[in-house]
Amino acid sequence: MAGSTAGSPRIGLLALQGAYDAHGRLLRRLGADTTEVRLPAQLNEVDALVLPGGESTTLLKLIDAFVFEEALRAFVQSGRPVLATCMGVILLAENVTNPPQRSFGLLPVDVERNSYGRQVESFEAQATFAGETFDLVFIRAPRITRTGPEVETLLTYENDPVLVRHGNILAATFHPELSDCTAIHGQFIEMASRISKPNHAGTGK
Ligand code: GLN
Repeated sequence: MAGSTAGSPRIGLLALQGAYDAHGRLLRRLGADTTEVRLPAQLNEVDALVLPGGESTTLLKLIDAFVFEEALRAFVQSGRPVLATCMGVILLAENVTNPPQRSFGLLPVDVERNSYGRQVESFEAQATFAGETFDLVFIRAPRITRTGPEVETLLTYENDPVLVRHGNILAATFHPELSDCTAIHGQFIEMASRISKPNHAGTGK
């Protein structure tokens, strides 16, 4: 059941750990209604979900402590839109290396954690997406080392996919919420708006 009433979709920010706040500010600036999700039951109240950047090892511990895994899996599999950035991509990936780590296997990509070099763990590069030029902000970012055939690559940096889409999942290895880029969150809101119109019980009202 969605929490939004008319118009703007309600977007949940997984607020267990990491940089969810900047996503919230940007989404609200673009007209979305946001709410912080700290308990599994709160997933029932949102049309879409942001899995922010942060530290995936810590996040996995919190997911276990708050018994979140089943509800998160069900949310992603329900087809409601998910925007995963950095740590979020690591969580959803099929295989994680450097070091190997458990992941949900809901996004057909493999990732190598902290993959962009020791000294330069955080850096910026320029990119253009949907007519907008902005800084790609990488913070100890994972590298997508394999994409499944059904994964659409929307943006690359030095031949690596850095923004991909797979059905309801939009996934960025960088931090679009920390740059001037609005196109990615704009696209995510559009995906969420489409799903927030009919109700999720499937009666099409
Ligand atoms: N290096 C982090 C990890 O492996 C991800 C970094 C990020 O989300 N900015 O979990």
